[in-house]
Amino acid sequence: MSWKKDLKIKRLRYRSIIPRVLGICFVDAIVIAFVLFFCYLIFLGQINNYLFSSHKDSLDVVQAINTNWNTNTVALNMEIEQVKKRNSNIQDVYIVDDNLNIINSFGSEPISFETVFMDEDVEEDLADHGMVRGELDVDEIALSFFNLKDKIKNVINFVDIVTDKRVIDSLSEEIMFPTQWVLYKTDINNINVCIKNCYPISSYTYNVILVICVCFAAAILVTAVYELRKIGQYILEQKKINKLVSTDTVTGGNNKEYFLQKGARLIRAPRKVAIVQLRLEKYHNFCSAYGVKVGENLLEEIHEKLSSLVGKKELAAHLENADFVLLLYYKTTELLNERLNSIITELTSVRKTQHLLFSAGVCEVKSRNDDINDLLTSVGLAVSKVSESTENIVWFNESMKEEQVWERRIEDDMETAIMNHEFQVYLQPKYSTKGEKLAAAEALVRWIHPKLGFVNPGKFIPIFEQNGFIIQLDDYMLTAVAKLQAKWLSEGKKLVPVSVNVSRAHFTCDDLAEHICRIIDKYKVPHEYIELELTESAFFDDKEVLLKTVRQLKSYGFKVSMDDFGAGYSSLNSLKELPLDIIKLDAEFFRSVDDLTRSNLIVGDTISLAKKLGMQIVAEGIETREQVDFLAKQHCDLIQGFYFSKPLPVSEFEQRAYGV
Ligand code: C2E
Ligand code: MG
Ligand code: MG
Repeated sequence: MSWKKDLKIKRLRYRSIIPRVLGICFVDAIVIAFVLFFCYLIFLGQINNYLFSSHKDSLDVVQAINTNWNTNTVALNMEIEQVKKRNSNIQDVYIVDDNLNIINSFGSEPISFETVFMDEDVEEDLADHGMVRGELDVDEIALSFFNLKDKIKNVINFVDIVTDKRVIDSLSEEIMFPTQWVLYKTDINNINVCIKNCYPISSYTYNVILVICVCFAAAILVTAVYELRKIGQYILEQKKINKLVSTDTVTGGNNKEYFLQKGARLIRAPRKVAIVQLRLEKYHNFCSAYGVKVGENLLEEIHEKLSSLVGKKELAAHLENADFVLLLYYKTTELLNERLNSIITELTSVRKTQHLLFSAGVCEVKSRNDDINDLLTSVGLAVSKVSESTENIVWFNESMKEEQVWERRIEDDMETAIMNHEFQVYLQPKYSTKGEKLAAAEALVRWIHPKLGFVNPGKFIPIFEQNGFIIQLDDYMLTAVAKLQAKWLSEGKKLVPVSVNVSRAHFTCDDLAEHICRIIDKYKVPHEYIELELTESAFFDDKEVLLKTVRQLKSYGFKVSMDDFGAGYSSLNSLKELPLDIIKLDAEFFRSVDDLTRSNLIVGDTISLAKKLGMQIVAEGIETREQVDFLAKQHCDLIQGFYFSKPLPVSEFEQRAYGV
């Protein structure tokens, strides 16, 4: 599976859980931010109230000094004490000169104001506010109170403008109890008043904030519970969907998806595991006879039976059509074969009155890292080989895969091969028995592959016959032979008939005779020098079309021969039905014959029969002198075989035929 497809499926499967959780977090974060902001506003409002009241009362202190400093110290003290009582925010009052030396203090122990208020940071801070120590413009310092008011909106800024280092420290430690020093200028020369304000948060504010926080926590809890319920429901829904996805619509049992998912885990078990593809043969036949519904019911019953026959940790699922897949544990190959046979017997008993036939492909899991999809492909390949085997259980082996890989390779390369003229014509001479002279030839294809080198037709012709490419190849060979004949003709050479193989696939073309005629006529080659070899398998196809084509070819003057005569079973029948010119006795007649006398008798009689029907006889695959002598005695016309020559490249054939 490509990673894109994988991702898409995973997304579909686990779709909205993550976005949902993220959504909840997002909504909750917004609620938290909102509540915190609200608390902050309440807190600020509170601070502002304190600031205003403190400023008012601080001005009363300044006023008291202005009035009483030189006249009534007692009254001054009382006034200040009263202000302090009235406004608990005002904690300490220091009377200082312009150089910030403390003259008098009300509140804490009198200490040098320099040490409280002035240290090295102070000068910088004062400078920040446009002031220089020693030349204090107390008005401006007083103004800092109002600057503070502006800046109080931000606690950090508030800390910034406080100039006492220790106050800053205490502020950062107790942010809820900010302390502020304010210096006021009085009307008395060289007398200023420095007031320390502390702004505690009231219990009312605390309570409000607490209530808000509780409400907010409750709100979050409610939404979280609600959302969690929703997620739970969603997970349940998702489980149902997954169940649906892994349920087979035909049998109502497990399907391929289910098998792939579970199987991928189970093949990692530390036991011997095998994957089995079980096929109910002729299912389409069954459906045609009893209807699709009955067919599906049968598959359902088979699936049920299979599920009851596999172990708890084994698997059974329906693939497609009439194919099932099993994951089984086993000890030895023999034991598994026995078990499969008994499973098949059980399955055939599902419908006692109907004859059910099963075949199986088996593949052992060799490593825990095996891919379940690959294993499924392997068993599919193995089960498809049952038709070529005598057994109904076929075990997968690597050569099956190699065959498939080879087929793929051939199919990938064939189009370019024809364009690049990688197919070459080889000619195998046919010799007359009388005088043993080169009298004809057969054109046989050879593939000179740029990477694989020389490839024999046996390795690619069957593949081309299956995929239909043989039609193109046959046309290519016909054209090449016509070109050769035309060349020899133009060079004044005496032509010999050259036969070209025409595959049975070609007989699907309605106008095959005209088609061949067009190719040959393009090069103006006399038709009697072209012979068309039809393999015997072609004679099993539509007889009407075959007869029509053979007649037409003959009417155009081409010679038609039956290749590999005797390799099949209906040879004599086809001799009766088809007006052929030549029959080519199959090489098998002459190969590893146990009873030579019997074989010679058959060959002799076949030759005389064909002769009586007016046909020419060619014997193929002749390798020995004895065979040649025997065939000459039986009046066989031509001999093709390694005894005289192997198939030759064109130049060597020319050498042999024309001596050039
Ligand atoms: P075929 O048409 O019956 O060709 C005869 C085959 O027997 C050739 O094999 C040839 O090399 C081989 N042969 C000839 N004499 C002897 C002998 O004395 N001993 C042995 N052991 N073999 C001999 P080849 O060339 O490998 O071709 C195999 C088959 O492939 C051909 O059988 C034919 O059916 C098919 N084929 C070859 N070329 C073409 C083609 O161009 N088109 C089509 N449709 N089929 C072709
Ligand atoms: Mg042939
Ligand atoms: Mg042949």
